[in-house]
Amino acid sequence: MPEPLDFGGQTPPIDPPADCVSPLIWRLARRLYADHQPGPDGWCLNCRPAIVYPCVARQLADFGLAVAVRPATAGPHVANKGHHW
Ligand SMILES: [Zn+2]
Repeated sequence: MPEPLDFGGQTPPIDPPADCVSPLIWRLARRLYADHQPGPDGWCLNCRPAIVYPCVARQLADFGLAVAVRPATAGPHVANKGHHW
């Protein structure tokens, strides 16, 4: 599983970066990222009442942004010894 991307405290760009291998995943994850931002108290504005932050949706957004740039290398197509479905 790829590590979340580090944007240095900045918001990820809306348009996929040049090294993006999956622009659709980037755009979906970027939208999810925008929808699940912390409020002034640190909890997600969309998932109140929440148990943890980042909420599950934000975790998926971070994962999606990372996968769009650095695809997972140990997916089912690799784990099944090269068989393609
Ligand atoms: Zn949320």
